[in-house]
Amino acid sequence: MLAAAVEKNAYDVALENFDIAADALGLETDVREMIKYPERILMVTLPVRMDNGHVRRFEGYRVQHSTVRGPAKGGIRYHPNVTLDEVKALATWMTWKCGVVNIPFGGGKGGVTCNPKDMTMTELEHLTRRYTSAILPMIGPKQDIPAPDVYTNPQTMAWIMDTYSMTKGYPVPGVVTGKPIALGGSLGRNEATGRGVFYTTLSACEHLHLPVKDARVVVQGFGNAGSIAANLLHGAGCRVIAASDSTGCVYNRAGLDMPKLMLHKEHTGRVSGFPGAEPITSKELLRTECEILIPAALENAIDEDNASGVKAKIIAEAANGPVTPEADRILESKRVFLIPDILCNAGGVTVSYFEWVQDEQHLFWESQDVYNRLERVMKTAFGEVLKIHKDHRVTMRTAANMLGVGRVAEAIKLRGLYP
Ligand code: NAD
Repeated sequence: MLAAAVEKNAYDVALENFDIAADALGLETDVREMIKYPERILMVTLPVRMDNGHVRRFEGYRVQHSTVRGPAKGGIRYHPNVTLDEVKALATWMTWKCGVVNIPFGGGKGGVTCNPKDMTMTELEHLTRRYTSAILPMIGPKQDIPAPDVYTNPQTMAWIMDTYSMTKGYPVPGVVTGKPIALGGSLGRNEATGRGVFYTTLSACEHLHLPVKDARVVVQGFGNAGSIAANLLHGAGCRVIAASDSTGCVYNRAGLDMPKLMLHKEHTGRVSGFPGAEPITSKELLRTECEILIPAALENAIDEDNASGVKAKIIAEAANGPVTPEADRILESKRVFLIPDILCNAGGVTVSYFEWVQDEQHLFWESQDVYNRLERVMKTAFGEVLKIHKDHRVTMRTAANMLGVGRVAEAIKLRGLYP
């Protein structure tokens, strides 16, 4: 349940998962000390003039967990529940995620504690520009490259790119990814996370010999990642029978009409009230009988209280950290096949990498090139994680962490300890 999300410390979960992977890899203590914790943390106070003329103070963070394999990379989240520990956890996961898909980035993350739903576009622009100038010494195309996360979007990235470029005196599109196409964004970036979830889910179905046609899909969090994954699965013949967002859940046994639901969400800003579907509660949504469950909202959505009620065969973690370690153990005992977050949702950072490459080269690719390369990266990573899962008889989560942590460990051993 997302209510529990606030109570469970995501950073403790990240550290626990690191230890499990490090133990399985037999990693030396010195190496653990060098790669486990964030390299750099910046906390900023952001005074912003609101539309009513008054100044309001916000708190923001930027965390660089690792720059061992390349510049730090990771999104910026605007949400009322953002805390430093949450940002540290998300930055840590980014490091292992970039390792899993083998792209030359480390991990970073940023966040501002705010409620964007209660803010106007002007206020959001002021906040974003002030936040950008506050974290400016830390970011840059060779240092640390932000991207969108929950409640930030291509427009937010455009403001960051502009603020950074104005202070430099020349345009620097490579400072952020997930930008609008007109500013050097990549074709296929907006749907990359959902598309990556789609590819890994297809791989999981293939592995389990589970027919895609008519497979029932339930998605919690009908935002960028969740709605696009659901729509692609719908296109592949699945039946998306339930979907939710922060305002409610909708259900239709025969399958929700995905393109229509996406339009409804676009026009009304919510899934609830969608004609041709009945409302259900968020508890019922997670208990819905289905083949594929996609948690695509926030951390700790599936915990020890609700995990035993999950009836899915596959859980595709589009969100970061949606399943707690206790829930992991319950799902494992129920033989639910888990596609862990750092593998499942790595499509976003992979196409961010493609975008950064295109910006640096000033040479842009066709969308089909992006999809083909993404599919290759996701299927390779899935195969590598699955092999570790089988060879070492560890869970899919531990296998993914072993792959990611192992790549960072290899890099730090080669670099050595400075000075
Ligand atoms: P988004 O803001 O586009 O969508 C989030 C959705 O979750 C919204 O529809 C919101 O209404 C819904 N939501 C919030 N609280 C909820 C609740 N209590 N119950 C049900 N739904 C709820 O964000 P997004 O970019 O799709 O990110 C979703 C998750 O995917 C996050 O965990 C994020 O870190 C992860 N992720 C996103 C990307 C990306 O490129 N967008 C990449 C990797 C991981």
